[in-house]
Amino acid sequence: MSAETAPAAPAEPSNFLRDIVSDDIASGRHTAPVTRFPPEPNGYLHIGHAKAICVNFGIAEEFGGRCHLRYDDTNPAKEEQEYIDAIETDVRWLGFDWGQHLYHASDYFEQLYAWAEKLIEDGKAYVDDQSADEMRASRGTLTEPGKNSPFRDRSVAENLDLFRRMRAGEFPDGTRVLRAKIDMAAGNINLRDPALYRIIHTPHPRTGTQWCIYPMYDYAHGQSDAIEHITHSLCSLEYSDHKPLYEWLLNNLPVPAQPRQFEFARLNITYTILSKRYLNLFVRDGHVKGWDDPRMPTLAGIRRRGVPAAAVRDFIKRVGVARANSVVDVAMFDACVRELLNKTASRYMAVLKPLKVVIENYPEGQSEELEAVNNPEDPSAGSRKVPFGRELYIEQEDFMENPPKKFFRLSPGQEVRLRYAYFITCREAVKDAAGNVIELRCTYDPATKGGNAPDGRKVKATMHWVSAQHAVNAEVRLYNALFSRPDPGADGDVVADLNPNSLEVIEGKLEPALAALTETAAVQFERIGYFAVDPDSTPAKPVFNRTVGLRDTWAKVQNAG
Ligand code: ATP
Ligand code: MG
Repeated sequence: MSAETAPAAPAEPSNFLRDIVSDDIASGRHTAPVTRFPPEPNGYLHIGHAKAICVNFGIAEEFGGRCHLRYDDTNPAKEEQEYIDAIETDVRWLGFDWGQHLYHASDYFEQLYAWAEKLIEDGKAYVDDQSADEMRASRGTLTEPGKNSPFRDRSVAENLDLFRRMRAGEFPDGTRVLRAKIDMAAGNINLRDPALYRIIHTPHPRTGTQWCIYPMYDYAHGQSDAIEHITHSLCSLEYSDHKPLYEWLLNNLPVPAQPRQFEFARLNITYTILSKRYLNLFVRDGHVKGWDDPRMPTLAGIRRRGVPAAAVRDFIKRVGVARANSVVDVAMFDACVRELLNKTASRYMAVLKPLKVVIENYPEGQSEELEAVNNPEDPSAGSRKVPFGRELYIEQEDFMENPPKKFFRLSPGQEVRLRYAYFITCREAVKDAAGNVIELRCTYDPATKGGNAPDGRKVKATMHWVSAQHAVNAEVRLYNALFSRPDPGADGDVVADLNPNSLEVIEGKLEPALAALTETAAVQFERIGYFAVDPDSTPAKPVFNRTVGLRDTWAKVQNAG
């Protein structure tokens, strides 16, 4: 991890995985851990994967070992080069580096094939001609044992011949599989003669048409771990039922190492779906604009929204690593983002729902530049000039004609501070025929330049504003949760739970300095939230994404007086 992206290192609570690795080093079992992150390139990485990445790379880093990036590319029907490229970009963005250790399960196809023949020769695997439906029907249930396949007792010679002909492409997809011969009555269904190879006549992104049989995940994974001398194969909890098969294969093959698998809880977040199958469907059916739509929980989407990688790492660290599944409140993620951006983001002024203000006693045709602080949390961020003039925009919600008692912002007769500028007093609200307030007539006190009155009088509100003459129009995309309930899909239909209001597009007025921004690092729109330039932005028409809102604008207004 590079120095400038490395998170501050608060004392991290220990977790059972670190304890295991630390004990293995203490006992001399290993000198350093070798872990791996094994994505299947059938979609973009999401924040659940970020947990697996942080755990695997994090432990390797902490104990002086290394972590491999290995593509689990065993199903050419679903995998694409676009996903392979995106995965590398995303892991790097998160701040991790696999160095020379980039691998593919497909690198091992020849070795895996040879070991499959070895299983056949040892009487531990057979070719099954049953259909997928027949195999499913004879697998049994949690309470009933399965039934042996009528092909289970084929001779070694016949099995070898059939398996070689499978490889040679003699049989269509789905007509035969190679199965391990373990135990159809095993309590663990994964041990009931699991499939090891299936026929798929689809070109593979790396091996082309060289193969038409592909190893199943369970067969490829553990053996790939062994080939790479992985010491600790750290994966999410749903793989714990596969562990006996993982071990059976390692024990029955002449593999060069004996990796061990350990499972940790998956990351689940409220209002969020972390499953590539569904994310793929949202993209395909146009529920979102793409894998990097800022509403998506993908790392590409989160990045486009303006979230810094350090906030993702901080979130994962705070969630911790446990053995029991749980659901994390999405508010915790937002809080991590806000906390980091509060320290790092430059402040600017932007008005999202504009109301025109005319300062009657400010000379027509005049304007001036006022000094504004870039980040009160970071003096080294310096200051900038903001233009001020006779006509301004403020937020509609900062004015009330008949305010309740505790409303200290603008109302007829009320004096407030315009941040970095002057005190102004509202004299009159101009209305249209329908009675809507369309303009405020105000006066300013020239003696309050910079925002303080020489006579010491106080105002209770400080408001942001933008000079109308200098304002830059921008498209502002306000994102809300992609789902309208915390547990999308709980009633069985994930798509029905999509939030119809997950995106609101408005036209805002920006101070001119914002139009010059090109980098995607988020900035703060004072009193509103954090926003980042979207790649759709052009010099003529800036586009900003809301990264996250401020916690409580009301409290901020009241404290600012
Ligand atoms: P999905 O269910 O989204 O398709 P997956 O597990 O099939 O995810 P893989 O590409 O196979 O996707 O995942 C690579 C690694 O990421 C696996 O080791 C898996 O354990 C881990 N992983 C995936 N989702 C999560 C999650 N929500 N929390 C923690 N780890 C996860
Ligand atoms: Mg998977």
